[in-house]
Amino acid sequence: MSIPFAAGGHPSWPLPGHSARVPPARDFGAPRDGGTRRHTGVDLNVPAGTTVVATESGVIGGRGGRPLGWREGVEALWLRTDSGVWVLYGALEPDSWQRHGVAIGDRVRQGQPIADSGRYPGGTEQVHFETWAPGSTRVHWVAGDPPPVGLLDPRWYVDRARENGHVVEPEVLPPLPTPHPRPRPAPGPELGDGGAVGVLMLGAVGVLLWAASTSSPGHRGLL
Ligand SMILES: [Zn+2]
Repeated sequence: MSIPFAAGGHPSWPLPGHSARVPPARDFGAPRDGGTRRHTGVDLNVPAGTTVVATESGVIGGRGGRPLGWREGVEALWLRTDSGVWVLYGALEPDSWQRHGVAIGDRVRQGQPIADSGRYPGGTEQVHFETWAPGSTRVHWVAGDPPPVGLLDPRWYVDRARENGHVVEPEVLPPLPTPHPRPRPAPGPELGDGGAVGVLMLGAVGVLLWAASTSSPGHRGLL
């Protein structure tokens, strides 16, 4: 599979001038949840409040909070790019997009500031950068989910596109080590219970709803 980008264009990093040289534990594919899951992106260490930019032009597709694994104090934002790739920016300061005049459903241009990085309750400051192939019907991988289809190594999305004619190919995740399945966490409260409900638009695939601030007992640590 290849992904053609607009003529003369290629994606950029979400943090200008940043590259994805990260410790192995923060790298794409690192084991998570006892080896039943893998790290879905790369964690770029930056101080809280660092501005992230649109990697391509596209539309802000949605936001995600605790039900999708993000701890209190940080959230994710999805960008559906014009190439069709879904970009997830994680560990952002909730609502920081408003500071940049950006709202869900807005069209943004490549390089436009769209949000600011946040801080985990434990103090970790970073941006989680995650990419999914066009047509992906699930654009997250949290504890209990089956291995995903369409998850891309962000380096392929950015660097390979630059190297080989603006085309990227999906990274194939290595097989998981000996699985140690864990029971799914107990379900959280009903959607909308005490929290604002957001909508993630998935093109023709459908609509995924989640509550932005419900209290789920099963949320994980760092994503
Ligand atoms: Zn991460």
